[in-house]
Amino acid sequence: MTTDIRKLLKDPSLFKEEAFINGKWVKSSSGKTFPINNPANNEIIAQVANLDAADADKAIAAANAAFPKWKSITGKERAGLMRKWFDLILQNKDDLAILMTLEQGKPLTESAGEVVYGASFIEWYAEEAKRVSGTIPTTIWGDKRFMVLKQPVGVCVAITPWNFPNAMITRKIAPAMAAGCTIVIKPAEQTPLSALALAELAIRAGIPEGVMNIVTADADQSIAIGKTLCASPVVRHLSFTGSTEVGRILMSQCAPTVKKLGLELGGHAPFIVFEDADIDAAVTGAIASKYRNSGQTCVCANRIYVHKKVHDAFVEKFSKAVQTIKVGNGMDAGVSQGPLIDHAALEKVERHIADALSKGAKLVTGGKPSPLGGTFYEPTILANVTSNMLITYEETFGPVAPIIPFESDDEVVELANNSQYGLASYFYSRDIGRIWKVAEALEYGMVGVNSGILANEVVPFGGVKQSGLGREGSVFGMDEYLELKYVCITL
Ligand code: ADP
Repeated sequence: MTTDIRKLLKDPSLFKEEAFINGKWVKSSSGKTFPINNPANNEIIAQVANLDAADADKAIAAANAAFPKWKSITGKERAGLMRKWFDLILQNKDDLAILMTLEQGKPLTESAGEVVYGASFIEWYAEEAKRVSGTIPTTIWGDKRFMVLKQPVGVCVAITPWNFPNAMITRKIAPAMAAGCTIVIKPAEQTPLSALALAELAIRAGIPEGVMNIVTADADQSIAIGKTLCASPVVRHLSFTGSTEVGRILMSQCAPTVKKLGLELGGHAPFIVFEDADIDAAVTGAIASKYRNSGQTCVCANRIYVHKKVHDAFVEKFSKAVQTIKVGNGMDAGVSQGPLIDHAALEKVERHIADALSKGAKLVTGGKPSPLGGTFYEPTILANVTSNMLITYEETFGPVAPIIPFESDDEVVELANNSQYGLASYFYSRDIGRIWKVAEALEYGMVGVNSGILANEVVPFGGVKQSGLGREGSVFGMDEYLELKYVCITL
């Protein structure tokens, strides 16, 4: 280990390598740890507790023990604690951003942005904790009255990915906590440090022991722990963000105990530029959507369809803009694209590009690993892309923009919808009739019209088809953690 993370932080005690169960920092019962790698330089920056299935059982037990009290205090009390947690996260934003960049690679400004975005869910759901209201339907049976209560689901589990090490946790834990649920979180093996720092701040905010537990594990133990979490009859809800493939496994593992599920899975977002689009705005939107987080987001534009009439103008401007992206270590000032998370990610990018070029695509810019080496890759644009190329039907998760020309609205909507995925979609047009029609026709959970950025805490995030189940964020995200109970009273 060469980098001493503690020396980089204003508050070194935010750097944790132990897991967090029942309000305590714990080692794995086996005593084993696993290494955390900085993708920018391949340095091992931490050795984190490698928990196993038996440890996960302890976390479930802690969450179960904490549940009766946590659900019984008022929503207002929960809101007060969550608000304190939110304030502490913002006060420690810089340190949280450094931890994230070191373990994940994204530029420091993006990390800081994610910390604020992640915290927004805690603020929003703290406010919502006071507004959980049932209903009293008007009676149709004269001697009886009806009541519908909303009650917390119970012990919840969150399994989260490495691409947003902070926000994918807060987006799940905040509505769960606000609703009165307790939770066990299994962060991605690549990025547990952000999760552990959040737990340290939760303790300081006074969140009671057992309400939030973090089980850290490497890839192999994550599979074993996943089985335990899914099999437990105590766990009533599982929320997962990650690949569709793993989502299917978790769904089947949850079938025997019939858990409630929230799944945010893969995406393959179409980004359509119509002939009446504001081309400069479309370029700005495409850059934000495609290259943020090195193209490693499930809402990244993965297929850019451009009308033939504006194709050349768009490609020229887009290419100029892409060439201003500065690739480098996310800790360095001015860097706008960090490394890819690992070599497998780099290989997928290379495979998609090689396949497209072999089938007649044209390289506009990029197309090779960055001279920086490691997993840095040049921001890339491919033109003349056709629908027989892998990149048009597989999620790339890298900084590659394939451009596909089109001629008619019907044709492009059909191409856009021709996917097993249905998470985010984007299109640019100034024609109000077209905007309505295309927004209605796209089979996606989210549609950005003249906007390359979509997500925030007040709107529902989620997909249709094999992109998942349920929604996160907004009032709808809270419902995922609440059960309805109907009470019938004879007078
Ligand atoms: P990605 O492809 O983005 O790495 P994954 O879907 O593989 O995403 O992983 C997302 C999360 O799911 C991580 O926390 C990872 O440890 C976990 N995970 C992966 N495979 C399994 C599994 N079989 N059971 C439980 N959790 C898993």
